[in-house]
Amino acid sequence: MLRQIAEGVLVHVSEFIESNAVVVQGGSGVLLVDAGVTGTEMAAIANELSESGQTVVAGFSTHPHWDHLLWLPELGAAPRYGTELCAASVREQKSDPDWRAREAEELPPEIADDVPLDLLGDVVGLPADTSQIPWGGARVRIIEHQAHAPGHAALLIEDGRVLVAGDMLSDVLIPMLDLAGADPIGDYLAGLDRLEGVAGAVDAVVPGHGSVGDADDLRTRIERDRAYVRALRDGTGPDDPRIGPLARAGWEWVTDVHEGQLQGLARRTAH
Ligand SMILES: [Zn+2]
Repeated sequence: MLRQIAEGVLVHVSEFIESNAVVVQGGSGVLLVDAGVTGTEMAAIANELSESGQTVVAGFSTHPHWDHLLWLPELGAAPRYGTELCAASVREQKSDPDWRAREAEELPPEIADDVPLDLLGDVVGLPADTSQIPWGGARVRIIEHQAHAPGHAALLIEDGRVLVAGDMLSDVLIPMLDLAGADPIGDYLAGLDRLEGVAGAVDAVVPGHGSVGDADDLRTRIERDRAYVRALRDGTGPDDPRIGPLARAGWEWVTDVHEGQLQGLARRTAH
């Protein structure tokens, strides 16, 4: 079910790790950001839109990870955008003839049968200097940075004062670094700085996974994520409610992600 969070901005929350799909209403149709995860849920979004007479005129993927790259024929054939680097990363993933089998293997078993891979990542890369999504609706500013994944973009829906953060600023997931990137820690801190730079223009933040927050939550989340990343950098062991004994029920696996990051960073320094 789509829930309105600001004028002209609606969110659908997936049962899969609280993934958020975002609908932005425009004059001639809607922009759909990170369309969803399961076929069942995306079909429900398509249905809800068509029942209210709205068509999808553009899509956008915030970054090149599978759960942000999916699409369903029922959503229509509108162009789907991402940053140039996002599109390049997807092209590289799909240049492996075994990409589909590999992707299928990595899917969480509980939803694997209901994740449609056919249209995964058919993303048009927007040139690096593109400042807004070219879709004919409200101004949606692209805020690109290299935290979490190559060519990651947050979106600022200017009139609605909504920041669509992609896989950043979650209340349930810790900052997940792009350990294959050139400077995982530095890039993450720079990404947080970029998001902080627009905080004054935001009343609601939508993370890729987790709860929608208000302006105060946005500031709190930026500080908490910065503290987490700095603790990784300084080897001081983060004191973070999203991991360890304070982790929310059902989200204990985030602590494993944290441990994996520590090991990944240690391996990088060893080499
Ligand atoms: Zn991601």
